[in-house]
Amino acid sequence: MAYDFDLFVIGAGSGGVRAARVASGHGAKVAIAESFRIGGACVIRGCVPKKILVYASRFADSFADAVAFGWTVGPTSFDWPTLVRAKEKEISRLSEIYAANLDRAKVAIFRAHARVTGPNQIALADGQRFTARHILIATGGRPALHPRVEGLEHAVTSNEMFDLPVFPRRLLVIGGGYIAVEFACLFRRLGAEVTVALRGANILRGFDEDMRAGLRDEMTRAGVQFRFGRLPSLIRPEGASRRVTMTDGETLEVDTILLATGREPYTMGLGLESAGVALADNGAVKVDARSTSNVPSIHAVGDVTDRIALTPVAIREGHWLADRLFGGAAREVNYDAVATAVFTTPEIGTVGLTEDAARARYAIVDIYKTSFRPMKATITGGADRIVMKLVVDGETDRLLGAHILGADAGEIIQALAVAVKMGATKADLDDTMPVHPTAAEELVTMRERTARHVR
Ligand code: NDP
Repeated sequence: MAYDFDLFVIGAGSGGVRAARVASGHGAKVAIAESFRIGGACVIRGCVPKKILVYASRFADSFADAVAFGWTVGPTSFDWPTLVRAKEKEISRLSEIYAANLDRAKVAIFRAHARVTGPNQIALADGQRFTARHILIATGGRPALHPRVEGLEHAVTSNEMFDLPVFPRRLLVIGGGYIAVEFACLFRRLGAEVTVALRGANILRGFDEDMRAGLRDEMTRAGVQFRFGRLPSLIRPEGASRRVTMTDGETLEVDTILLATGREPYTMGLGLESAGVALADNGAVKVDARSTSNVPSIHAVGDVTDRIALTPVAIREGHWLADRLFGGAAREVNYDAVATAVFTTPEIGTVGLTEDAARARYAIVDIYKTSFRPMKATITGGADRIVMKLVVDGETDRLLGAHILGADAGEIIQALAVAVKMGATKADLDDTMPVHPTAAEELVTMRERTARHVR
């Protein structure tokens, strides 16, 4: 049977765009549909604008630190609309580059909502209908709207945070995950009073305990207020502000409430059930290790599959899928030791197993940990510390995990992730000549084991 396209991609985010371009490079006839802006969450309202705001926020520390190094810094002030405009200019530029790259790859772009109407059929909101040999669902995720408390409609999500018309002087963040802590840190440094309310006893569940405790302490030192084990029970608008009643009866008055309680796969309205595609309870497309659903012609990559919700993972999944479908390759994405960074201030960089996860899986686990003042703080008198931890298999000496809290942790962990992925041992690190004076040199100079756990 002749199809209109070899591949029809729904969703022009990181995973979808990569799959479309690679498939086209293999000679496939490809189309992509996007109902919002080309680029997806990462480019439009995620990683990229977030990092721009993080850069902006860190000037606060630089101005303060500069004085200790002999600079005279005049009065400083911050203008939110200027930053929003600069951010918008950059993401528009990136979005245009994505579209231009798709054009260059001869991918047909439809700026419309698309729906699957059968294993090989797509219908666009404007009435056009197409057939495709393969369909790729790459629609990503969207903010989850919970806990469902009265007045939740007066909160915003990360989607709106980047374009708030007015800078929030008083911000309440609900949640304790990546998005919550990143926004809390950056808005605090931009000058907001920030409170973080979360259901758990600490932030960043699943991260290494030393990273969680260290970041919580650094955020507290920066003036972020925490409400652990407490959530809003009622939200009421009062003029331009919001009055929040917490589960313990406390009331807070804030300008903006950011709901950062997770993201969920975005499959609503895609018609997948009618095409026979199996979905998980949270709406995620169930796929096999090669990103194919139970319907052999329908595939899914990225956040919509609820595997690891990170841009580089979606890109890799899209790339490998296109290589398999149209390039004759048979690779499967390896999800072991995926490094990640949390762009708080200070940052967290992490790869591999946490101390607790390693203890649950290995008979002997050795820990090498250090905590020290960064060199810059010796001049500024700052109380900031860098924490580094290596998790090592005590039987084989293999590096199982590495965790860093401190400036540039995201940059450092990228390089160390290669070593972890290659199966480096602690002895390999010890054998590496340090780069001096850096913070990262501590990773190869930790001689003393700080703990050994034997099961
Ligand atoms: P996370 O999964 O990181 O955190 C969700 C938070 O919401 C947790 O604190 C969780 O609490 C809490 N929560 C979940 N459900 C409820 C509920 N019903 N009531 C109260 N609290 C609740 O999600 P994010 O939204 O922060 O980020 C989504 C994903 O996006 C991340 O997991 C990550 O993969 C990706 N991301 C990556 C970034 C990066 O690489 N730097 C930056 C931003 C996002 P609990 O821990 O108790 O479950």
